Amino acid sequence: MKDIRTAADLAINGAPPAFSEPLHVGRPNLGDRDSLLRYTTELYDRRWLTNNGPLVQELEARISQRLGVRHCVAMCNGTIALEIAIRALNLQGEVIVPSYTFIATAHALHWQAITPVFADIDPATHNLDPASVRKMITPRTTGIIGVHLWGRPAPVAALQEIADENGLQLLFDAAHAFDCAYQGRKIGGSGRCEVLSFHATKVFNTFEGGAVVTNDDTLAEDVRLMRNFGFRGYDTVVHPGTNGKMPEINAAMGLVNLEAMPAFVEANRRNYGDYVTALAGVRGLKLLEYDPATDPNYQYVVVEVDGGRRDAIVSALQAENILARKYFWPGCHRMQPYRELYPHAGLLLEQTESVAERVIVLPTGPALPEGAVSAIATVFRLVGAAA
Ligand SMILES: *Cc1c(COP(=O)(O)O)cnc(C)c1O
Repeated sequence: MKDIRTAADLAINGAPPAFSEPLHVGRPNLGDRDSLLRYTTELYDRRWLTNNGPLVQELEARISQRLGVRHCVAMCNGTIALEIAIRALNLQGEVIVPSYTFIATAHALHWQAITPVFADIDPATHNLDPASVRKMITPRTTGIIGVHLWGRPAPVAALQEIADENGLQLLFDAAHAFDCAYQGRKIGGSGRCEVLSFHATKVFNTFEGGAVVTNDDTLAEDVRLMRNFGFRGYDTVVHPGTNGKMPEINAAMGLVNLEAMPAFVEANRRNYGDYVTALAGVRGLKLLEYDPATDPNYQYVVVEVDGGRRDAIVSALQAENILARKYFWPGCHRMQPYRELYPHAGLLLEQTESVAERVIVLPTGPALPEGAVSAIATVFRLVGAAA
């Protein structure tokens, strides 16, 4: 490869990028190919492709054991898992969510004619600010969805207290937090339930997939019924439902990728350490740190850029074929339909709007090429310093 510093320097002045392949955020993590092929042969021979097959059952057992929860109900994706969880908890009226999250958290409510009410975040953690949540409660509020953003634990205890005081249901969108721990306990057992995503861009993927995890036996049973049209047995429908089933081939990918999780997280941890070193001392830049009480999956390398330089840096990185992203810009409340439905929501979302203008998420994962971190740091130094 070319000298990185020179390449970055030149590309800003119009030379070709240093990386011939684009470096994406959320490039899929892939476990052992032969192992996936073995599972595929097995399921071909078995001719059991979906409907709670043996691989789905094995994946559910392994995940619930890994996370220390009683139940894991695997689904076709995280959004359907959220929708089913919301329905199973009988949420109605208004539900409080952060605006600073992936749009699916809000859409899963709107899709079911429930109003997402956007609360603000703590700028230090990017997670829900309990004081803002309190302000958003009305007589129509039935629940709160906390998000463990970037895999950092939401303020679970404070949110539980608010939920208990006000008779609200509490659940968590744990799409970012697979295998993350807080105070030695894996995330997944809080609130009434937590929802995982196994989308291709997440640290652990089943191509597409997701799950509801919970310690509540009755809720788990309801969620299982709703995942499969409400069927109990072949001929009896006992519940309204939809089709949220995970196919066997997805569960096979999950079993393969579970084996590789330590390698995925180790690669992320190493990249994060490299970023810490490479970005040290860059002016106007903050790399989000981790609370020492957490065991992160390091899937999201999040930096905040001051002085309105964020977009210039993103453009300069993209010119280098480094496809860094402005997650979750501009915030759910400024996307449709919410932007038109609640045009003034931003007035109460000061921190969300400010953080959304400053964040860049950088590429990581086992497929990050040699030299990428130092090339990225060079762009930050060259473009960021111009402020
Ligand atoms: C990825 C994601 C989802 C949706 O999961 P899918 O499996 O893609 O449907 C929901 N919430 C958050 C915070 C996410 O990042």
